[in-house]
Amino acid sequence: MQTARLLAEIDARRDGLIALTQSLIRIPTLNPPGLNYRDICDFLAARLTAAGFSTRLIRAYGTPGDSDAHPRWNLIARIEGAAPGDCVHFNSHHDVVEVGHGWTRDPFGGAIEGDRIYGRGACDMKGGLAASIIAAEAFIATHPDFRGSIELSATADEESGGFGGVAYLAEQGAFAHVQHVIIPEPLHKDRICLGHRGVWWAEVETFGRIAHGSMPFLGDSAIRHMGAVLHQIETVLYPLLASKHTAMPVVPEQARQSTLNINSVHGGEAEPDPDYTGLPTPCVADRCRIILDRRFLIEEDIAQVKAELTALLETVKAQRPGFTYEVRDLFEVQPTLTDRDAPVVRTTAAAIERVLARQAQYVVSPGTYDQKHIDRIGRLHNCIAYGPGLLHLAHQPDEWIGIQDMTDSAKVMALVLADLLG
Ligand SMILES: [Zn+2]
Repeated sequence: MQTARLLAEIDARRDGLIALTQSLIRIPTLNPPGLNYRDICDFLAARLTAAGFSTRLIRAYGTPGDSDAHPRWNLIARIEGAAPGDCVHFNSHHDVVEVGHGWTRDPFGGAIEGDRIYGRGACDMKGGLAASIIAAEAFIATHPDFRGSIELSATADEESGGFGGVAYLAEQGAFAHVQHVIIPEPLHKDRICLGHRGVWWAEVETFGRIAHGSMPFLGDSAIRHMGAVLHQIETVLYPLLASKHTAMPVVPEQARQSTLNINSVHGGEAEPDPDYTGLPTPCVADRCRIILDRRFLIEEDIAQVKAELTALLETVKAQRPGFTYEVRDLFEVQPTLTDRDAPVVRTTAAAIERVLARQAQYVVSPGTYDQKHIDRIGRLHNCIAYGPGLLHLAHQPDEWIGIQDMTDSAKVMALVLADLLG
């Protein structure tokens, strides 16, 4: 009975959900450099204060990218129930990536066409943020004497690692009293994302000796040395990675193995300024650098991942006189996987079945998101990503979110609240 009322309450708030999503899209929170973070936090604080939440604005002073010109603002809103109980926390990032080319709609207009709302961040993840707010408001309206507490956070910089957002809040103990976390990233309304693969970014540099390009035999080309490294990666490492499969249900399926991307290659003379009209100079390259992005599996150990690359470089060294190299660690994230029996997973799966009349799918993300900080710094393992939107639309031109998908996801989130706090 109360469930039917709750679902009807979400339907009744459909126009409010649309308007809220549009308002969020119309605040261009571009990252980089980190625009309008304060504006979106102020907007949400006003909205949630009116709904009975107490709000805290938190600037992540001194984190990467934080400056007086582009302060890293975060918002945490909290409402207490009528009796003690668990705390359910919805965490959304409020930043969006650059617009890019190829748009046929205003990226910050929030235009509606049929069942879709268009805009940068519509699916990743302002639609999910709006759905969680509507879910919480509808739940509070229909369950005024709920137990425990509800928190909603809007955090900075997920798209650039989350250090000025969830990582900072976790370090401040913001998740110490939280029992359940849902991150409404666009994994789609019938899928529960349990975690993500691991990441290791490294820079590899090879060295040579500069000489005149007409007499390359007097120098030693760092680019040719790097060519040998790339050849080894192509012929030895890629087949090895393709043979490593995971039991993690990663989507898309091609990511259900170890992968490697070579993000960039830079060797020899630096790129000239765009307005330079002269020719390059004839020099043998004495430096060449590549950036590697290795994604690893829960079955792999990061020490073993690093040792694989070292072994490869040592093989090249044994084959090439004068070959020297350096490897620099840039960034690493451990894989994370929430247990299928965790309370937030079981509750969400039951709610999906109820709203959509089909079984929930369990997935793992190929890339990382803020769950890593909640898991590692916050030490909370009862955390999932669940929200509306199609992951492949994220970061694309003409990004959109489906209104029906948002409504259905809001119903699922509201039922999760009713189950955990009702
Ligand atoms: Zn996102």
